[in-house]
Amino acid sequence: MNSSFSELPLPPAQLENLEQIGYREMTPIQAASLPLTLAGQDLIAQAKTGSGKTASFALPLLCKLNPRDFGAQALVLCPTRELATQVATEIRRLARYQANIKVVTLCGGQSIGPQIGSLEHGGHIIVGTPGRIKDHLRKQTLDLSRVNTLVLDEADRMLEMGFAEDIGDIISTTPTSRQTLLFSATYPDDIRRLSHRYQSDDVQMIKVAPQ
Ligand code: ADP
Ligand code: MG
Repeated sequence: MNSSFSELPLPPAQLENLEQIGYREMTPIQAASLPLTLAGQDLIAQAKTGSGKTASFALPLLCKLNPRDFGAQALVLCPTRELATQVATEIRRLARYQANIKVVTLCGGQSIGPQIGSLEHGGHIIVGTPGRIKDHLRKQTLDLSRVNTLVLDEADRMLEMGFAEDIGDIISTTPTSRQTLLFSATYPDDIRRLSHRYQSDDVQMIKVAPQ
């Protein structure tokens, strides 16, 4: 399998950025997923922590992003604040090739006022935990009606933590035309059902063996 980022349909400025941040070769999950996700496909990817999942969804969502459009264009749901913070940090590094991309982190256990302030200044990419995202939807401080990429990161953990209903409520406020990417270390029946409910019929599935 090809493992050079330069074979992918990425902007030259992004290829330069990847080199600068030390991404020389694709990891196996990136090599398997990026040709599909960059082509706009829905995807279920079964892969473990540390495999490089963030770039698998960040590169396609960044390619679609319009910095001049105010408001949320991509939503990444994560099980915990710690994971959301890591994902946001990694997306910011991958977004460096474009100016003025705003990544807003929305997690519980933090006061909601500053989050509302950040959203008022525009957040192109929202990364957060389901509970707090739902709080913002209820307060109408977050509008997901223009989201074109939805990512469920570590989806099996989110279901284990009891977030299934919140996830459904959140997704119902996004356009059905969105691209939906689901990442999970395991593939039990409830993940299968989640995919069936929220992904397109021609969803692609990849599985990467632990290294
Ligand atoms: P996961 O979400 O699967 O746990 P991450 O996307 O957070 O994995 O990546 C894990 C670490 O590997 C991060 O520090 C990231 O910067 C680094 N990384 C990811 N892809 C590459 C790559 N292609 N080359 C070098 N480092 C990478
Ligand atoms: Mg991750």
